[in-house]
Formats: sequence, structure tokens, C-alpha cells
Amino acid sequence: MADGADRSPVARAAGGRAPAQAPERAMWCDERFDFQAAFLQCLAKHVPNIYSAEMDPLVEKQEEMVQAAILYPLECYLFGEDPDMFLEKLQQSGTSQLCGKVFKGGETTYSCRDCAVDPTCVLCIDCFQNSIHKNHRYKMHSSTGGGFCDCGDTEAWKAGPLCSKHEPGASSSPKENSECQLNEEIMEHSRRVFPSVIKYIVDMLIWEEEKELPVELTISREKADSYYCVLFNDEHHSYDHVIYSLQRALGCELGEAQLHTTAIDKEGRRAVKAGHYASCQEAKEEIKRHSENVSQRPLHVEVLHADVMAHQKFALRLGSWLNKLMSYSSDFRQIFCQICLKEEAGSEKPCFISKLMLWDARLHKGARKVLHELIFSSFFMEMEYKKLFAVEFVKYYKALQKEYISDDHDRVLSVTALSVQMFTVPTLARHLIEERNVITIITETLLEVLPEYLDKNDKFNFQGYSQDKLNRVYSVIFDLRYILVSKPTVWTDHLRERFLEGFVSFLRILTCMQGMEEIKRQIGQHIEVDPDWEAAIAIQMQLKNILLMFQEWCACDEELLLRSYRECHKAVMRCSTNGRSREKTVFHLCGHTLESRPYRVSADPVSIHLPLSRTLAGLHVRLSKTGAISRLHEFVSPEEFQVELLVEYPLRCLVLVAQVAAEMWRRNGLSLISQVFYYQDVKCREEMYDKDIIMLQIGASLMDPNQFLLLILQRYELADAFKKIKPTKDQDLIKQYNVLIEEMLQILIYVVGERYVPGISNVTKEDVIMREIIHLLCIEPMAHSAITKSLPENENNETGLENVIDKVATFKKPGVSGHGVYELKDECLKEFNMFFYHYTKTQHSKAEHTQKKRRKQENRDEALPPPPPPDFSPAFSNVVRILNCDVMMHILRTLLQRAVELETHLWTEAMVQMVLHLLSLGLLEEKQQLQKSPEEEVTFDFYHKATRMGSSALNAVNVLMLVEKLKRVPQLEAQKDTVNWILQMFDMVKRLREKSSLATVGATSGSEATKGDESTQDKEKAERKRKAEAARLHRQKIMAQMSALQRNFIETHKLLYENTLETQGKDDAIMEEESTSSAIDYSRIALGPKRGPSVVEKEVLTCILCQEEQEVKFESAAMVLSACVQKSTALTQNRSRILELSGDTLDPLFMHPDLPCGTHTGSCGHVMHAACWQKYFEAIQLNFRQRLHVEQIFDLENGEYLCPLCKSLCNTVIPIVPLRAQKINSEDAEAVAQILSLARWLEIVTVRISGYSVKNAKGEKQSLPPFTNKGTGNSALEFHSILSFGVQSSAKYSSSIKEMLILFATTIYRVGLKVAPNEADSRIPMMTWSTCAFTIQCIENLLETEGKPLFGSLQNRQHSGLKALVQFAAAQRTTSPQLLIQKHLIRLLGVLLPSYKGEDTPSLLEVDMFHILVGTVLSFPSLYWEDAVDLQPSSVSSAYNHLYLFHLTTLAHIMQIVISSATESPTAHSSDNSEEAQSAQSFCREVCQYTSGCFSQDIPGWLVWDCVKKGIMPYLRCAALFFHYLLGVSPPEELSQVSEEAQFKALCSYLSLPTNLFQLFHEYWDTVNPLLQRWCADPVVLSCLKGKSIAIRYPRKRNHLIELPEDYSCLLNQASQFRCPRSSDDEQKHPVLCLFCGAMLCSQNTCCQELVNGEELGACTSHALQCGAGVCMFLKIRECKVVLIEGKTRGCLYPAPYLDEYGETDPGLKRGNPLHLCQERYRKLHLLWQQHCIIEEIARSQETNQIFFGFNWQLL
Ligand SMILES: [Zn+2]
Ligand SMILES: [Zn+2]
Ligand SMILES: [Zn+2]
Ligand SMILES: [Zn+2]
Ligand SMILES: [Zn+2]
Ligand SMILES: [Zn+2]
Ligand SMILES: [Zn+2]
Repeated sequence: MADGADRSPVARAAGGRAPAQAPERAMWCDERFDFQAAFLQCLAKHVPNIYSAEMDPLVEKQEEMVQAAILYPLECYLFGEDPDMFLEKLQQSGTSQLCGKVFKGGETTYSCRDCAVDPTCVLCIDCFQNSIHKNHRYKMHSSTGGGFCDCGDTEAWKAGPLCSKHEPGASSSPKENSECQLNEEIMEHSRRVFPSVIKYIVDMLIWEEEKELPVELTISREKADSYYCVLFNDEHHSYDHVIYSLQRALGCELGEAQLHTTAIDKEGRRAVKAGHYASCQEAKEEIKRHSENVSQRPLHVEVLHADVMAHQKFALRLGSWLNKLMSYSSDFRQIFCQICLKEEAGSEKPCFISKLMLWDARLHKGARKVLHELIFSSFFMEMEYKKLFAVEFVKYYKALQKEYISDDHDRVLSVTALSVQMFTVPTLARHLIEERNVITIITETLLEVLPEYLDKNDKFNFQGYSQDKLNRVYSVIFDLRYILVSKPTVWTDHLRERFLEGFVSFLRILTCMQGMEEIKRQIGQHIEVDPDWEAAIAIQMQLKNILLMFQEWCACDEELLLRSYRECHKAVMRCSTNGRSREKTVFHLCGHTLESRPYRVSADPVSIHLPLSRTLAGLHVRLSKTGAISRLHEFVSPEEFQVELLVEYPLRCLVLVAQVAAEMWRRNGLSLISQVFYYQDVKCREEMYDKDIIMLQIGASLMDPNQFLLLILQRYELADAFKKIKPTKDQDLIKQYNVLIEEMLQILIYVVGERYVPGISNVTKEDVIMREIIHLLCIEPMAHSAITKSLPENENNETGLENVIDKVATFKKPGVSGHGVYELKDECLKEFNMFFYHYTKTQHSKAEHTQKKRRKQENRDEALPPPPPPDFSPAFSNVVRILNCDVMMHILRTLLQRAVELETHLWTEAMVQMVLHLLSLGLLEEKQQLQKSPEEEVTFDFYHKATRMGSSALNAVNVLMLVEKLKRVPQLEAQKDTVNWILQMFDMVKRLREKSSLATVGATSGSEATKGDESTQDKEKAERKRKAEAARLHRQKIMAQMSALQRNFIETHKLLYENTLETQGKDDAIMEEESTSSAIDYSRIALGPKRGPSVVEKEVLTCILCQEEQEVKFESAAMVLSACVQKSTALTQNRSRILELSGDTLDPLFMHPDLPCGTHTGSCGHVMHAACWQKYFEAIQLNFRQRLHVEQIFDLENGEYLCPLCKSLCNTVIPIVPLRAQKINSEDAEAVAQILSLARWLEIVTVRISGYSVKNAKGEKQSLPPFTNKGTGNSALEFHSILSFGVQSSAKYSSSIKEMLILFATTIYRVGLKVAPNEADSRIPMMTWSTCAFTIQCIENLLETEGKPLFGSLQNRQHSGLKALVQFAAAQRTTSPQLLIQKHLIRLLGVLLPSYKGEDTPSLLEVDMFHILVGTVLSFPSLYWEDAVDLQPSSVSSAYNHLYLFHLTTLAHIMQIVISSATESPTAHSSDNSEEAQSAQSFCREVCQYTSGCFSQDIPGWLVWDCVKKGIMPYLRCAALFFHYLLGVSPPEELSQVSEEAQFKALCSYLSLPTNLFQLFHEYWDTVNPLLQRWCADPVVLSCLKGKSIAIRYPRKRNHLIELPEDYSCLLNQASQFRCPRSSDDEQKHPVLCLFCGAMLCSQNTCCQELVNGEELGACTSHALQCGAGVCMFLKIRECKVVLIEGKTRGCLYPAPYLDEYGETDPGLKRGNPLHLCQERYRKLHLLWQQHCIIEEIARSQETNQIFFGFNWQLL
């Protein structure tokens, strides 16, 4: 039904919807009839007919009939004129100010961090692109579906609520009024039509009778026995279960069952069988039975009468018709809403819309969708009615939520998901709280749905909870958060009362949580099962922000705060009854006593869930902040207050943490460890750990300090530890005590020192965040995302990071990899507090280490005293008293004493550090107080207490003396600087005390003394600073050098072997040069008689496996290079060409000039002995056979392995064949030059070839292609002439080299053609030449795109790989039958020889000339094969062979370029009349003549020359590379530089070409003439010249990855418009962009799977086969990830080349910051492709991230 609904009226008009005959005047038009009756009569008549074919509907036909019979007449009546005309008028008159677009799952939504009122306010992509927020700090996210664009909602945005599209007056047509006013007649009609339509929809949707229809609809029809068996969707049964059940129950085909299942999943229900009642009933039972077998629960099946089914279907169709209607006019919407909300007078029954809401959970998926869309398009588009709807919604809130919780559909499909749309609107929220008491309703709902988790003490207990059910309960908690998200600015009495009522109700939930899930220490035995702890912690997480928001709301108003405090206090007290039954005991220490009820965390039950206590602590600091605390006694009397009881539970919780750290709870298992982790983790700590510390601070501020400390000692179970030393040898126990003491000291430090909470001291929220960030960055520089993750988020998902980060840190940009980081500013380092309470143990020690190191580097002492803390606010000022109280002094003294007395086992360094920290805090406090007020007013007497001698033996030594003694403790060497700092502080406080007491006596002298002191100190300081700076610079320099070295180390290591080889080679070469003729600058020409000598270096290589060296020689055992052969489309000029997937019948001899797919051979450049490699390969094979279940990264079957040194993926080895040194005797060359012209050479070759054919014909009766002009009559030429210019014997390769030659050649054949290996296949040599040519072309292409010179800039691995490959390709011939090679050669020559053309010789325009060149040059020596003796041409002979072969291919290539540029039209006029231009002109005349005018003579010569010169460059460059690696002749210097013009000249010189290339034709005119004629007569050439076909242009285009937009949201925009080419449903799609060709694919979806060779492949995998010959690179747009894939089984993810402003990538768009293209990173991806390193990258990534094995790449 979605089909019909989607059609716009305009489309309908165009589609010819008006019925063929003039419509019968609908009955309802007659005013005499009751509309309702007429309407129903019409439906009763038509609907069952239209929807009769349920099983197999013709959707378009149905739609046509519905339009004609019902909708068109209905619209005619409603509008009073032709609907299309009416709608056109309406459309022009403008759109609503609200966008209201409903999001589908996966659609990108945008929010503005600057302007959105809360993060649920989002825009659709269209509105966003047209809004001011585009330039703000926006966030992008993927919708989970069901949301709604908030454009136009003024309450959702602080600024820019409207996009330019929805701005009134901004739309295309001018209009007075943004809404079209309907005329009264239409309004009147809609008031008549809507009620009947709505009633029909409601009645049909909630219709429960299976067999009967309402009487109004059952007119006069014979009730046929026609039923459907209808299957409903649920979330319990998997796809496969349903398919299985259907197949079994109905006996249907897999395909049909799949079809049903997909439809059920999409629409929510589907008829799976039609027939008589009995048979449908039978099918129903069968389905139930089978589905029950599979998964306990039967599927939901119903048998429905055909008419019921038809009417229900039509009801939905009407629903979407209304939905469309709603968008036309506000008047329609209002009338609709009024009718939906109308309650029957005097009836208790709910109104229409509420009826549907209440029925929602029982509706099937398709019906729900229509209903929700209707609500969106009507109620939610009219603010006034949205409010009324919200009121209805809240009225039934409890019922709806309960229905939802017992339903099994996803939340997006539930009407309860609409709550966010209403509760987050501030005015609506206020209204609902004030008038409908919604907070109370929500909390009560929670209380009503949670009882199943209550234990006998009325506390929650989530043991054995159902995750799914709990997730559903969360939705109620979310609602609580939504309703609280915006704090009211104005409070009325009514609002206050309602809120308080809600708060009290909320406290009841907290009461059920206070002390829940108590645990008891396990002694002796380990617990059997770890209890479920996740649920309670998860609820705690969900509640965190709600708790904070409640506290914030309470603090809005003094009265409210005090009253809620009283309520909360009461609730805490009610829960604090534990232990009251026990007798109080008394504890004495240092003359102080504490009376308390005995309780031991280690023995009694304890809980970490104390939300009530923590809420109270939160309210307490707010009391302090607002000053309302002065009135507290009016609300809670001091007797009631009972601070000890308030402190008790949080204290127990902290003690539990300490005991866990002391490993006392080891036997309670991992669940406790996890709980303790979350207790302090950033996700929970604000409403757990932090508040417990605050509660202790409240205790410390209100209790007697000595009593407070005694309580702490007692709860930490350390009372005895500070009384007397119990001699014990139990090491565990001692260790346990030590940890507990450390933990306790730490808590004491926090209680006194942690004051960064507004209310505890006078700090702001910014100060707090800054301090958090400073401490994070004190550990190390961090990325933006890492900092964000470590900061608590508020209800708006903001951390406040951006507001302050620039004040404390500087941003450092990222490189090509990695991410940007923030570094702490130097001036913030002084804020560092080693005992920062949010540090974990590891963070603490890391930070301490970093900071000490830094100070050391700056040549400063290593003391890290606490920074002076801010002053406590008055309510907390008493906390500091615990520092100088007797018990504290006792604790400090005891611990110091133990350290000094070297009772090593009784103290730890950490303990002493903490004692010193506490001392520092005490001294700082006294110093600060003394500096602020006159001495006599300062009662804080830390100095006095610490220097006072005690009377007893134990405290005979005072603290100060003990500290001095610490300096002599060898174990405390590291603390020396801190000790010194403290001693200085003692001194300073002493002086401050003395100064003020002496102030009257000698104020001046005193101050002067200090001044003088200061100045010398300053000088010293300055000097120290200068030295430190100098030292720092020096160090920096060294460090930079070191790190550079380090960076290179790995590379160096990898290349070690090549390096040694290179230097050795060089040395040898130099020696050789010196010994021979160093003076002569040998010729740098590669071809022809002037050919220069080969520069042959003696190659001594080291095997990476056995480390032994070996010289490369023909007769030695083979050495090999690890290599990877792969098919490649990197150079293709035509991506639309269909590639053959299997090469069984392919003839690879000729390469098409499009270079559609080649075979690339790459190497990592690492050398092994062939034998060593074989052993290595066998070893890994064996290894894997033994470990069957280990998934392999590589495919051993196909010869894959990882390079033993660098772990690159390889699938073969290239044998290293030495270059045969050749030198031409210049006299010989001169002599030969006299006779061997091109013409003669051609004759000789022709004779030789025809000689072979005669020979073969004799032997095998084989007819070889005849020569067009056999013999030119020169009798001197005969079969053996070719040998007369010099021969030599072939190189004799060792058997091991031969074996490797065969092995590598077979791999190329197997991989390049995708066939089974066959050593005897005739195509092996062809593939060898082909990969050689193709690899050279790839390298040339790469060098050109990177702007690097042709020679001297190759990477080592490329250089050694190419060298080995070319030499291999030359040597491979010797392992094949020479007759075969000859056969191939003859076919290749067919393109070049004037006198010979075979049947299968392709047209000139259908071959790549460079491939021909490589093939002919490498196969040519086979012509010297004589009676089973493999001779080779001598140096001189081959110099000529090469020259002429090269010249011939060059001529052919020039011809190709000339023909393909024939259609070029001159863009500019040039008067270039150079020699080249003239030659070109005359050449063109010839061509014109031979093509009988097809080739236009009008093309100016200069243009032709220009095209040729540009077009031929890549070919020349490839040829130069090829001959260089083949012959070893040094190239001219100019080719090691980048310069266009010099390069051309140098290439021509190296390759023995005239720089005026057309000169070649003139030079060889007689020989070339017939060839030229033959080429010109070619039909393909002619058709191209006539413009009938298109030839490839030269130079070929260089391939690049597609261009990507700078702004990532452009891509998202593209993705949002993406429609799957195969299906039209509105399901979520995963659009994926091919970076090679730009195709957008529908990935990971069954709709676009393709069957390839009997295997289902996903859209990406099958696309990759064509686009990249199996290797491809995609961008998953919605996830912002790049995917590299190879074949069907391998792939990896790679971050997309987009960075946010913090220099970070955002895989999965988790953070959602704006993203921009990073060119360098994209270039890196481009190189990955062009260097053929994608496979390598995948292998590397798979090796490091084993998780990807689980992914089914095949279906991508
Ligand atoms: Zn929108
Ligand atoms: Zn908009
Ligand atoms: Zn904005
Ligand atoms: Zn070896
Ligand atoms: Zn390697
Ligand atoms: Zn593609
Ligand atoms: Zn698709």
C-alpha cells in the first residue's frame, strides 16, 4: 500500500488517474442521503472486489480501481471540483512552516550544538543545508527511525528555527498568507467526510472478529467461504525459523517461503494461504506446530475472512490518503484533529485517537506505521493540537507503557516512542507537569512496572533479569529525562507543588534502590556464580543525569530546595535503620572516644547503591552554594539531622573499595571488581563516588574532627593498626594493612583537598572542567575524542570541553596518519595535583612519572607538592580542622616514625608520599590563612601541632623532626625533594608566624631581610633558568635526532640487505670501471650499432632466511625474490567493459589498448635461496595442517604466504636471473651496418619464418599462413641468413633456476587467467610477456603521477622487483618449446610486418603497442633455434633486432596516435612551421591518400606533431625502462631529472630515434609504404576515421580515485537520495561508493545480491570483480569508513580520509563532528591502489585485527 500513498497528486495527474468513463456521480453527493451510510455502502460494494486477490495482488491494478471507484469521487465531493486542479492551486499557495519530515532508520540527522535546545532537536538534511546551523558546531547522527525534523519549531532552537525553505515568504511563489485558507464549503464537506473516514479506519483497525464484518459493511452479499491464513511478524522468531516453519507447514518452495518472510518482516503480516475456512485453519495449526518445535513459542497466525482482510487493507489505504491530505492545508489538519479528539458526550469511552493509541501494541507493523505517520502529519504539525494530543497521551501513559513493555516489537514501532516529540518541548513539558502531573505519572509508571524486581525488603534485585524487558523499562526512564531536560525559568506555586510531588514520588524509586543488591564478603570459598550486576549499574547510568537534573530543578528556588532537602533527608533516615539493634561500643585513641554501633564492611552486608544519600549530598552542596543552608534548621532540626548516620553508608562504600584494592574480596569474583570499576568510572562517578566524597566532607564539616577521624579509622578496620603494633609474620595480612592505610590516607587527602565542586568552594563549572582537562593532559597529550571520553557528559551530551580547552592547551595537527592532539600549556603545569581524585592507579603513576621527568629535564627539583587549593565555602570551612586535630597528628607521627625506624614491612613509599602530601596541605592551609588575616586571628595551628613534643614515649619526637630524619632513609631517596620542600614550608610558616608577632618590633628589617633574600634568590633562579634553558635546547636537538633515527630504524632494518648489496655492487662497479677504461664516457644508447655496454654488477645477495651470502650466477642454485601477482584494472581506460571472470578460453597474446585488465607483479624486494623459501613454505603448510581451526589470513592452496621479513602478502617468488653482460665491438657493428638495412632485415626475418613453415609443413603437414609476397627474388637470402650476423650459445641455467622459472611462470598464468595451474599450457609465455609489459606500464604511470623522474626514483623494492621480472621474462623462453615461442612471435609480427598478415591478426587500433614490443623482443631469439640447438643472436645481432623491432612498433604507435587524433580540432592557431610540423604535414598527405580521403588533410601539421609528441611519451618512457632493465645500458643523465623537453630528447637518444619522429617514415619509406597502406586499409581504422567508432586517445588518461567533496555532509546528502536500483521499499539501505569508478551500490542487502558462478555475492563483492578485477576500494558513506576488499573472502576497514577540526577521523560517525576531506590521506589511498598494495594492506590489517575473520565479506 505504500505504493499508492507515495504518489503525489501531480504524478497522478500525469499518470492519467481520472477514470476512463465519466465517473458516476457518487451517491454521497446527494445531500438527501446520510454521508456515512452512503460512504459505507460504497465501500461495502467495492472494497472486497478490489482487494480480492490477496495472495498475489496486482498492486497497480488495485490502486487504479481504488482511485476510480472510491478516492476520486470522494475527493471530487470534498473539494467541490476536479481534485487535480484543486490540489495544484493548493500546492502553489505554499507549505507549512514546520518541516515535519519523519526519519527512516539510518537517515542522517543534524543537530546544532550552539542552538539546539537539547540534543533531541534535529534537522533533516534538506533543512540543515538551508539553515544557519550549517556554519555552526553541528553534529551528524544516524537516525534510529521514527524521529521527526524539528525545523520550524521555535521552541527547539535558540536561534535559526527555520531553514530558508520553510521561512515564510522565502518559498518560490509570493503569497500573502503562509497557509491556504479553505473556503467554507470545503470545510463543511470535510466535517462531513472526515468523521466517517476516521470512524471506518478506527473500526477496521481494531476489528477483532475473524469471520464477520460490521453490519453496515455486510450488505446483501452472500458470504463466501473464502479465508486467508495470515501470519504475523514477531521478534522472537528469526528469518530462518519462519522460512523453515512455512516450508514445512505449507510444503512450499524455499523461494516462496522467503518471499512471504520478507513481506511479513516489512509489513508485519501477510496471507500465506487462501482457501476454505477449514483448510486455512489447518494451515494455521501446522504453522504453529512447526514454529513451536523450533523455538518454544508458536508464531502468531490468524484465519481471517477475505472481506475482513480487504477492509483492513483498505482502511490503511485510506489512512495514507488522509496522511497526504493533511499536508495540503492547516484547515484539514485542524478539522481532522478535532474529530479525532472528540469524545462522545456522556461516554467514558476514549476518543478516536486514543482508541488507536491504546490499540497500538496490538496492531501489525504496517498499520502502526500508517497510524504514526498520520499523527506526525496532523497533530504534530499544529502546536495547539500537539498539546491536546500530549494531554491524551499522558492520560493513557501508564497503560501505553505497560502495553509496550509486554509487546515484542521494537521501540521505534511503538506509539510510546512519540513521547520525545512532546516531552522535550519546554512549554508542553511545563503544561504537562503543571496540569497533568506528568512527573508523578512517569515515576508511578516506573514503580508499577518494576515490582517484579523487588525483593522482600522492597529493594530492587535484578538477578536473572531479562535484558529485553529491562531495555523496555528504560524507555520510561528516558521519558523522565526528556521531561526534565529544560529547566523552567518561571515558577508558579502550582508548578512547585506538582514538581515536589513528582520529586517525592521519584524518591520512592530511589528508596527501592538505596542499599539494593547487598553483598557480603566471601570467606574461605569462592562464590559459585557471579551475580548479575550489569542491570543495576546500567540503571544507575541511566539515572545519572536524571538525578543531576532533579537536583538542578530543586536548586532553582530556595523554598523548593529546602523542602526537597527535607523530603530527601527523611527518605535517607528511613533507610538508615540498619544496625540499630546492636549495642554501641566505645573506641579510644589519643584521649578521644567514639561511641558507635559495631559494623564491619568485611563481615556485614554492604551495598554500593546509595542514590538517596548521594542525592542528599547533591542537595547539600546546592544549599551551601545558594546560601539557603542558613535556613536549614527551619526544615530539619539539628536533633533529626544525625550527621554520623548520613556519613555511615557512603563511608562503608568507600571502605569496600579500599578492601577490594587490598584483595580482601578476591573470592567474590569479577562482578564486584566490575561494580567498583563503574563506581569510579566517568560514566557513573558523578552520582556515586564523587557524591560519597562530598558526604564525607559534609561529615567532616559538621562533626568533631577527632570523632570523624576515629569513625574513619574504625570503618577502615584500622583502629588497631594505629594503637599498637601487632607482631605478625603473615605477609598477606601486612600487605593488606598497608594497602588499607594507603587507601584511607588517600580518602583523607580527598576530603581535605578536593574542593572543585561549586558549593564546596567558590568555583565555577568551567573551573571544574579545566581542572579535569589539566589533569588528563598531565598524563600525556591527548586527542579531542580521548578527552571527551574522559569527561562526564551532561544531559545535553556536552562536556563543556570546547569552552575551556584553548585556555589550558594548545592543539597540534596530525600528519598523514594518526590524529591531532592537545598539549597542556606550560603555565597550567603548576595546577598538577598528584593525588587528583579522578585518577585511576595507573593514571596516577603515569602522571607522576611524566611530571617528574619533565621537571628533571628542566633541571628542576622533583618535588610535586599540591597546588594551593581554593578556600572552602563557609559551610565547609570546618573540614580543614581534621588536618591539625590530635588524631591526625597521631596518624602522621605513627607512620613517619615507622618509616624512620626502618620497619620496612610496616610502611610503603606511597604511604610516606601521602603523609607528606597531607603535611603539605596543612602547611599550605596555615600559610594561606596567615597571609590573609592577622596572626592572632588564625586559629589553625598546624605548625604548632607538628612541632610540639609529646609527653609519652611514642610521641617523644615531633613531626618536623621526623620529617628531617626522612632525608636519611635510603629507600626514600626519590622523595628527597618533596621532603626539602616541606622543610622549607615549615620554615616559611614559622617565619610568617614570627614575622607577624615581631611585626611591632622590627617590621622593616624583617621585610627587608626577606626582600634581600628574595633578590639573591631571584638571581639564582634566573641563572638556573638560563642554564636549564640551554640544557633543554641541547636535549631537544639530541632527542629530535634520536627520534628521526628511530623512525628510520625499521625501514633501515628492512632495507639492510639491499643496502649492503648496493654498496657492494657500487664498489665492484667502480673497481671494474677503474680497471677497464675509466676515461671513456661510454655511450648511453640502448639500441642499434652505437649501443653502450651493459653495466653489470656482480650481485652478491644475502638470503633473509639463512643469512648466507651468495653470488647470483647462471650455474648456481637459484635465489628468489618474494612476489605477489595480481590482476589489476589500475590502468583501464574503459571501466564499463565486461571482464571475463574465467580465462579458460582467453587468448592473452594481444593486449587491448584500453588496458582493461592486466597482470601485475610486485615484490617487497626480499631475497631468499629458492631452497630456503621452499623449506619455509612447506613449514607453514605443515603448521597450518596441524592447527586446523586456526583461520588463515592467506590461502595456502593458492601459494600464498607472508614474506618472512616484512610480512607482506606474497603468492610466488621471482627467480633472480643474472644479466648477461654484452658489449659491442664497434668495428663489427660498422661492418654489419653496411649491409643490414631495415629492408634487408625484414627480408631475412621473412625468409626465416617462411623457412620454418616449409620445414614444419614437411614434418607435420601443417599449413602455416602464406606470405603475401614470398621472397623478393633475392636468392642470396636463405633460411640460414639470419645466423650470419653473429650468434652465440644460449645461457645454461642451473636446474634450480629452471625450476623456479617454470614455477613463477605458472603462477603468472594461473593468477592472471584465473585458471588451474598447467605447466604445459601454450599461453604461459604470453602471460610472462604480458605481466612484464603491464607492470612496466604501471610503474611508468605511477612515476608520472607522482612527478618523479623516470630513473633513480624507484623504491628499492620496485627496482629489484622490476629488474628480476624483466630478466626472468627474457629467460623464461628457454623453458618453453621453441616452436611454441616462434608461433607466438609470428602472430605478434603479423601486426608489424608489411608482407605478412595472419587470419587472427588484430587491427592496428586493437592492440597495445608496448605489449607487442615486449613480446616480440623477448620471443625474437627463438628464430635462432636451429635443429634442437638453441642459439642466440650475438650482441651485434640483437642490437639490430632490438632497433628494428622497436622502430617498427614505434611507427605503428605513431600511426595509432595520428589516427586517433584525426578528429581533434585545433583549439588555438599556431604558426609553428618547424621541421617536425612540416614532416607531419607531408606524412598526413600520404595517409590521406591511402585512406581515400577519410583522413582529413586539413589538420595542421603542427597539431599532428603536437599530438604525437604528447601521445607517445608514455610509450617511450616504458620502452626506456624495459630496455634498461633488459640490457643494463645506463640511461642519459637527463632521465634522472624531471624536465619535459630534455626528457623527450634524452629518450629519443637512448632509444635511437630521431627527435623528429616522422623522419622515421621518410628514412624507411620504401619498407614502410606497403605497411602503411595495409594499416590504412584496415576497416576498423576506416570506421574510426569516418567517426563511426572511437579509438583510444593518447596519452591515455591517468586513473585517479574519484573526486570526493570537501564537506562530508555532501556525501551524506548523496546517500540520503540513494535509491536501491532493485527494490523500492523504504527499508534502511547501506549506500556504498566505489572509489574507483564512483558507482553507488546497495551493500549488505539481499535485494542486490548477485549470483556469480553459483555463489551469492553482495553488491560490493560482485562489483569489485568487474571494477577492480576482484580488488576494490569502497566508501561506506553512512559509516564513514573505507573498505578494501579482495576476492570473496578478504577485506579490511580503513578510516575514511575525512578529519574533523580536531584532526581525528570518525569511523561510524560516533562523535558526529563536521568532517572535511584530507587531501594527503586521500592521496595515500590513491597510492595504495596504484602501487597495487591493497592486498598487502588487507593482509596486514587482518593479521593485526583478527576480529575481521568473523565478517562475511562475500555478502558486502
Ligand atoms: Zn526538515
Ligand atoms: Zn526546514
Ligand atoms: Zn546553530
Ligand atoms: Zn638461504
Ligand atoms: Zn618482504
Ligand atoms: Zn567501481
Ligand atoms: Zn538493494
